[in-house]
Amino acid sequence: VLVSLMVLFAGVAVFMSYMMSKKAMGPISTAFHRQKEFVGDASHELRTPLSVMLSSIDAMEMTDGVEEDPFAQKLLRNMKSEVKRMTGLVSDLLVLARADSGVVERVIDEINVRVEAGNVIESLTPYAESNGISLYLDAPDELIVPGDRARLKQLMYILLDNAVKYSLEGGRVEMILSKNDRHWTMKVSDEGIGIDAADQSRIFDRFFRSDKSRTRTVGGHGLGLSIAKWITSIHGGTITVESEIGKGSTFTVQIPNEQAASI
Ligand code: ADP
Repeated sequence: VLVSLMVLFAGVAVFMSYMMSKKAMGPISTAFHRQKEFVGDASHELRTPLSVMLSSIDAMEMTDGVEEDPFAQKLLRNMKSEVKRMTGLVSDLLVLARADSGVVERVIDEINVRVEAGNVIESLTPYAESNGISLYLDAPDELIVPGDRARLKQLMYILLDNAVKYSLEGGRVEMILSKNDRHWTMKVSDEGIGIDAADQSRIFDRFFRSDKSRTRTVGGHGLGLSIAKWITSIHGGTITVESEIGKGSTFTVQIPNEQAASI
């Protein structure tokens, strides 16, 4: 009798825990999954009309009558910059929706970080120079580590783009790369507006933008650093910031030299 009771008790316990986990996991995870799927689909659906709009604006700019009309040109320029901003927002949302889905599409290759950083800096130089800001790279000739090339380039782009965006004319932005036997490090420093101590822990949150009055004039929607944090985390690394208002900011990314093929 005792053995049957124990078996019965164990059976009920297993059944209850199964039901509870089903209750806790089932509907919530389905709703969560559906929501992420919706964001992903929505981002894809939004991209097509945006690229159609962009090419239509390009065509309108060159239309007879419009080409010579400064007011029409100004309106078209505004439309174009808003469409571009929206396109950036949509692709950022797509990255974060994928991140939330838990499916990490990571392609690990042996990459020379110095070369990738050089390419990112080269592509940002015209934009930086047009704002009176100079970019510098300080790195060993070869810095070869395993990593996802496209994602790491996106990480560099986000940090450098921010450093330029939040710098003042005449400012200097520097990227320093180094490596020891356990990890490699990327530091991106600027002499720009700096970040309030109270905001420093919040800048990695989605849609957070510090002191809107100062950042309003420069484009952005507060998703760059959350993507930077995610890219760092899928490489098993950390990202930190040191900053002082009016003096500038330094973002430090530290990533282990060893990367498993999958996580
Ligand atoms: P975005 O730049 O698009 O607003 P981010 O997520 O990249 O979004 O950054 C969040 C906020 O952190 C920015 O709005 C800005 O207030 C602050 N920030 C980021 N990088 C810097 C920097 N280098 N210097 C000063 N403030 C920065």
